[in-house]
Amino acid sequence: MIEILLLLMTFLVLGYVLYPFYQPRYRWAYVPTEEGDPRIQHLQEAKKEVLSAIKEIEFEHQMGKLSLSDYEKLRSEYQKKALRVLQELDRLNHPSGGVEQLEEEIRAYRYKLKQGQQVQVRFCPECGAAVEPFYKFCVQCGRQLLPTERGG
Ligand SMILES: [Zn+2]
Repeated sequence: MIEILLLLMTFLVLGYVLYPFYQPRYRWAYVPTEEGDPRIQHLQEAKKEVLSAIKEIEFEHQMGKLSLSDYEKLRSEYQKKALRVLQELDRLNHPSGGVEQLEEEIRAYRYKLKQGQQVQVRFCPECGAAVEPFYKFCVQCGRQLLPTERGG
C-alpha cells in the first residue's frame, strides 16, 4: 500500500516539476530570445552552413577527393563568406546607434536632475552654508535670508 502511495507522490512531484515545460505559453516565451530577429536567425543558419561547408571541404581534401588548389580556392571563398556573415551578425547584435542614443538620453536626464538639485539648494551669502530654500534665517550664522536671495 505504501509503495503505491510513494509511486503516486513521485508522479505528482514529477508532474508538478515538468508541467510548465509543456505549457504552450512557456515554450512561446523562449522563442523571442532564440529567434527574435529573423535576419539574425537567417544569418546564424548561413553561418552554420558555411562552417559545415568548410569542414566538409577540409575532410574531402584530407580524403584526397579534392586537389590542393581546388581546396584552397573553395576555402578562401567560404572564409570570405563566413566573415561577411559574422560581420553582419555583429552589426545586428550590437546596433551602436541605439546604444549611443540611450547614453545620450541618460546624460540628458542626469543633467536635468543636477539642474533641478541646484535650483533647490541655496547658500547663505554671509557664510556660504547650504540652506533649504524655505529657510528665512541661516542655520549657521543667523543671517536673514530674503526669499529671492541666492548666494553661491
Ligand atoms: Zn550663514
